[in-house]
Amino acid sequence: MDDVFDELEVVLRERYYGWEGAEQFEGSGGRLRRLVDEMCWTSSQIEDEVARCFEAVFPEGYDEMLVSGPADVWTLCPHHLLPVGFKCWMGYIPNGMVLGLSKFTRVAVTMAKRPIMQEQYTRELADVLMGKLKPEGVGVYIVGKHGCMGCRGVQQPNVEVVTSALKGSFKDDPTVREEFLSIVRG
Ligand SMILES: [Zn+2]
Repeated sequence: MDDVFDELEVVLRERYYGWEGAEQFEGSGGRLRRLVDEMCWTSSQIEDEVARCFEAVFPEGYDEMLVSGPADVWTLCPHHLLPVGFKCWMGYIPNGMVLGLSKFTRVAVTMAKRPIMQEQYTRELADVLMGKLKPEGVGVYIVGKHGCMGCRGVQQPNVEVVTSALKGSFKDDPTVREEFLSIVRG
């Protein structure tokens, strides 16, 4: 047995042996291995890609709020390894340096390349934007739909889970906070 993925393929083929369609499991071990490679990056893969994103920072005097979103981001829940879909908004007020526009989405996608809870993801995304850009403030707003609540357990695929993380002026200044939330809530 090569590894756990090959083992799983054998288990599935044995469980459904003789049933029509059992042959579809042929090669599923390799498919699952590639799926994990695609969706579960190592810490250093994630750190390196995030670092590359923040190479695209430019001096610029724009000092109003910028909001990017909604980015569609997929991750897996760490408890059940079932898909979780995020709609992700990120806002900031720059402080002399701006981030290349596509990089907001790329950072959001990259930081979800491992099984992670929505709460932790929201917090980490705000922390990395605040830490790398040193802006006046940062806001992150996420609406999540969780496969593990949809297809099993409580079976509620339409429940949306909303989280936010506010930093700097987004947290301290009610006007800034209100402006951000009114933009992302439409
Ligand atoms: Zn779960």
